[in-house]
Amino acid sequence: MKFNTKTIHAGQHAEETSGAVMPPIFQTSTYAQSSPGVHKGHEYARVTNPTRHALEALLAGLENAEHCAAFGSGCGAMDAVMKTLRPNDHVIASNDLYGGSYRLFTKVFEPFGIQYSFVDMTDLNEVEKAVKSNTKLIWIETPTNPLLSVVDIKGVVSIAKKSRIFTIVDNTFASPYLQRPLELGVDAVVHSTTKYIGGHSDVVGGAVLSNNAAFMDDIRFQVKTSGAIPGPMDCYLLLRGVKTLALRVQRSCENAHKIVEFLVNHPKVGHVNYPGLKNHKGHEIAKAQMDDFGAMISFTLKNDSIEHAFTFMSNTHLFTLAESLGGVESLISHPASMTHASIPKEIREAAGLKDSLIRLSVGIEDANDLIEDLEKAFKKV
Ligand SMILES: *Cc1c(COP(=O)(O)O)cnc(C)c1O
Repeated sequence: MKFNTKTIHAGQHAEETSGAVMPPIFQTSTYAQSSPGVHKGHEYARVTNPTRHALEALLAGLENAEHCAAFGSGCGAMDAVMKTLRPNDHVIASNDLYGGSYRLFTKVFEPFGIQYSFVDMTDLNEVEKAVKSNTKLIWIETPTNPLLSVVDIKGVVSIAKKSRIFTIVDNTFASPYLQRPLELGVDAVVHSTTKYIGGHSDVVGGAVLSNNAAFMDDIRFQVKTSGAIPGPMDCYLLLRGVKTLALRVQRSCENAHKIVEFLVNHPKVGHVNYPGLKNHKGHEIAKAQMDDFGAMISFTLKNDSIEHAFTFMSNTHLFTLAESLGGVESLISHPASMTHASIPKEIREAAGLKDSLIRLSVGIEDANDLIEDLEKAFKKV
């Protein structure tokens, strides 16, 4: 089955009792047993729920994974992954990481004895140098947020394989439509399904996917034991949203290409970060491992200050000033004060995350309207 077909049909079948084409929202906390232990496959809804299973089957299809566990948020999914580690285990992660991931790793898991090295993962030598005898996991995010750096997934996997280190890609930014890390040799994928997979900014969710049965048993144990599950209504919203994933991402990418063209030629723009640009450091790698370059763009103003960035962002109208990304509507944000405020300024600036850096999540509106909206805001700075 090709991707566009999978977004509609992967793992889906009409509901048995009624023939309902969409899986019903099984809004129940428990299931009847005819005698103790005799039931129709479900005992308690923290552990299993048919609406959730329908979502998991569909997401597994999209990532070409045998197993998927859905979570109540991307952070819940990442939390479950970290709990498969033990004190004194070491993790290598990118220094240009989603702020919430950095906070989870350093504020929650470091105090429990998990060790982290944050490295420039676009440089494979840095990854190799960071490997220690207790390194258990390499956490890859690509393209990165918000600088849109591209990590060579196959390159990192080959370093990891030499030392039998588990690899994970946070595939939220690309979405499975543009990038399927398991096909590139990665052991597992995590998603914030809140973003492109849901696609309508109306639900928060997460997922872990893998072909490694032992790892997924561990993840399911976390689901059952720690309970960061999505509710059935949320699973239904995700099932509804994901069906248009291919169409949405395709249109968003087309819009992003036009906006990037506009930005690189604009006199008030400093630097544009977009993997589709030929002068982008990771352009060739992105071309090889992604099907298109995505709809996330970040750029600095020539006049690099927080004040100018704030003025610009308060003057867009179609681009809504908000955290998050990957919805049908275009969003604008200021990483240094919003999503990445939990990363100390020295670390932020060392990674190139400047004060005036503005991030765009390009939606599916008309590209000309979006460009006009940006042009109006440029006139104010
Ligand atoms: C949003 C996001 C997360 C966290 O997911 P939530 O659903 O907000 O908990 C993790 N990684 C990336 C790259 C994200 O954009």
